[in-house]
Amino acid sequence: MIRQFELVEMVRAYDPQVDESLLNRAYVFSMKAHGSQTRASGDPYFSHPLEVAGILTGMRLDGDTIATALLHDTVEDTVATIEEIEELFGDNVARLVDGVTKLSRIEIPAESHVQAENFRKFVLAMSNDIRVLLVKLADRLHNMRTLHHIDDPEKRHRIALETMEIYAPLAERIGMREMQDELEDIAFRELNPEAYESITARMAFLRKEGGNIERTVISQLSKALKEFGIKPKISGREKRPYSIWKKMERYHISFEQLTDVMAFRIIVKDIPACYQTLGIVHGKWPMIPDRFKDYISTPKGNNYRSIHTSVIGPERQRIEIQIRTQEMHDIAELGVAAHWKYKQGAKSMDGSQYRWLRELLEILEQASSPEEFLEHTKLAMFQDQVFCFTPKGDLISLPRGSTVVDFAYAVHTDVGDSCVGAKVNGRMVPLRHQLQNGDQVEILRSEAQRPSPRWESFVITGKARSAIRRFVRNRQREEYQLLGRSILEKAFQQEELDFAEEPLTDALSKFRLEKLGDLYIHVGQGLLSETQVLRTIFPGIEIKGDHFAIPPAIREWDAEDVDKRHAVPIKGLTPGMAVHLADCCNPLPGDRIVGVIEPGQGVMVHTIDCEALADQSETQEGWLDLAWQPQSEKPDFYAGRLKLLAANEAGALAGMTTVVAKHSGNISNLKITTRDPDFFTFEMDVEVLDVKHLTQIMTALRANHAVTSVERLRG
Ligand code: MN
Repeated sequence: MIRQFELVEMVRAYDPQVDESLLNRAYVFSMKAHGSQTRASGDPYFSHPLEVAGILTGMRLDGDTIATALLHDTVEDTVATIEEIEELFGDNVARLVDGVTKLSRIEIPAESHVQAENFRKFVLAMSNDIRVLLVKLADRLHNMRTLHHIDDPEKRHRIALETMEIYAPLAERIGMREMQDELEDIAFRELNPEAYESITARMAFLRKEGGNIERTVISQLSKALKEFGIKPKISGREKRPYSIWKKMERYHISFEQLTDVMAFRIIVKDIPACYQTLGIVHGKWPMIPDRFKDYISTPKGNNYRSIHTSVIGPERQRIEIQIRTQEMHDIAELGVAAHWKYKQGAKSMDGSQYRWLRELLEILEQASSPEEFLEHTKLAMFQDQVFCFTPKGDLISLPRGSTVVDFAYAVHTDVGDSCVGAKVNGRMVPLRHQLQNGDQVEILRSEAQRPSPRWESFVITGKARSAIRRFVRNRQREEYQLLGRSILEKAFQQEELDFAEEPLTDALSKFRLEKLGDLYIHVGQGLLSETQVLRTIFPGIEIKGDHFAIPPAIREWDAEDVDKRHAVPIKGLTPGMAVHLADCCNPLPGDRIVGVIEPGQGVMVHTIDCEALADQSETQEGWLDLAWQPQSEKPDFYAGRLKLLAANEAGALAGMTTVVAKHSGNISNLKITTRDPDFFTFEMDVEVLDVKHLTQIMTALRANHAVTSVERLRG
């Protein structure tokens, strides 16, 4: 076990300014807190945080991070609280410990590979501060090194899988190759012991067979290079079992074909020497095509730089060769931490040896650099996303601000359509509840539930929004279909005809429609009148009944149409002025109206009692006194907006729309705003001639037995 003064010395070696007392206090606190707890290995538990701290000194991390490493399991596994940590070690350490604790609570379910990338993002999002991620990686590395002490094979498997899918790729992403390799190898051994054994056995065989190939290759390579005045440092190493396995998978080669298990690394003094070395190697031994990579001129995203090539080398052996400078080598093995060792030279006194953290962030975020470093080690990555879990542990990633309904639709459209509520982390929440990172969300469903148009006001994902709209549209179609059918049934009855679907179906082609349902919808929407339908089916029929000619349906009401239609019939305007009817009060001919000049837009026409005018009373002198002009012979239609409360019963909506149609109104828009078991409210835009026409329709609607109240909607 590392002793207290040894740990302090390890940190002081690269940071003479470090707060020694902080390290000492954290050491003692953690040791006491873990007390007599032991690890699966039988070692005292405290050996674990201590080893983690040791790993982090290898990355030359600051005092706060080392203290965090010492304390990282105290909140989760002992009686210590985060408040205590904050009091004793300050905000920064407390925040870091809290971050690591939260990460440790996540259990990533086995067989999650499909979602691995999501989980990696999740870990990054949860890390907040890059140092949290580094402590977590060091923690994982030590747990992997001691994995074999765990007896439960399922637990070992889960930890290994998590390491392979989440943590090793994260280590790779930040350029910590050495850590990545070690994590992968231990995980590989656990996850695929047969493959691991076969590869190591094959490697042992090749080692015996090939004799001391390593020494031969090294001596031949250095002889060749020295002829050109290059003094290389050459080392040979066996590749790691997992990297061989990956190569076998990638190139579909068998164990028997496996020959190049040796890799050689040539370290030279500078970049020109790298390319010179490459030329000499390629000149002397035949290169294997498609294996050449120049990561010096185009570094990898994680700053990895090196030249890779494979040749049929000395002794006709296939060998892989990496050529790089010492600096590139250190960075490749240790990550950016090493980079700054070069930039800083010897010991620096201003703390700037931690600049590498900032550089690491830049690699991760590939964004502009923050001014200060330790205060700015926050990971902004994926901060615009929240990651939530289903009860089964599936991870759903959503944009920040997403609600329970967004989550439900992200799981499945059916789940969204039938969602009535949710439990977040076991607690009941309303549908508009916004989700936080790491929330576990259980959606409560009911077969009776239907999506409400109101949901649209709080959902933020496109998927939820379009599903809700689609549902409401279909719902409206259903209503129109019911309405159309009942209009036709009634018309048949009035003409003393038996209602039947066959003649209607036979006539579909004459209306250029495909389905009977579409015909009903056309009738329901007023696109076709029942008279037209009857005449088509029974040519020459004499219509006895009193069928209103429903005004031809007008397309979706849009502002442009409104402007065109109403440029004429208003008095009191300067010619050429743009006019808009305000959509807060929807003025109709017959309403008392005023105009308000909106800079850059023209005149906005409101009813005199419009609530929107109250806010503008101060500018009253700018109001225009307007009046409607008498209607021409070819009347225009205007949209009046009604709000209705009606009984929620079968055919209620159909009945009401029939009333509107019978009074020659045309419904241009219909929106159900709330629906509960007994009542529903909806808004209806009705195209009418004037306010008198609208009043007639309202009166007729009030006479309908299903209607509780009707009012004109203003604002
Ligand atoms: Mn731990």
